[in-house]
Amino acid sequence: MKIQVKVAPGIIVDVEGQKQKDLFKAVASAHEVFGAKNCGLCGSTDILPTWRTVTTVKGKKTETYEYPEYQCQARDDSGRRCGARLALGTINDDTGTLFPIRKLVDGKRPATKAEKEAGNSGTYGPHNGWHRWEKDAPQGDE
Ligand SMILES: [Zn+2]
Repeated sequence: MKIQVKVAPGIIVDVEGQKQKDLFKAVASAHEVFGAKNCGLCGSTDILPTWRTVTTVKGKKTETYEYPEYQCQARDDSGRRCGARLALGTINDDTGTLFPIRKLVDGKRPATKAEKEAGNSGTYGPHNGWHRWEKDAPQGDE
């Protein structure tokens, strides 16, 4: 079975599933990943999907990290950009399936790999996963 899902203005996703259950799961995933409508901090609808790639060199080893996320483009009356982000994670099953990271550590950022391994993946909050990037804060997947 195939259906088209309108998840946001201007975004229609084609999804497929063998059974209704699979199709429902695909529809839910399409809404979760592509259906962001508002910034969770300022409420603006002026949000864009972005893909950041960060390469770090540690000794002789070069590592590249990818950060799919939504970024808020809204500006306040003084022209300052909101800049809030909603990070997306990748499900660790080689399907390339994304999901929005709704839990934050201290309400500020997604948990690092080390924090998750230590059992601290953060908590849900009124931010719904939206946060402002802080220069020296660790990144989610490092
Ligand atoms: Zn915002």
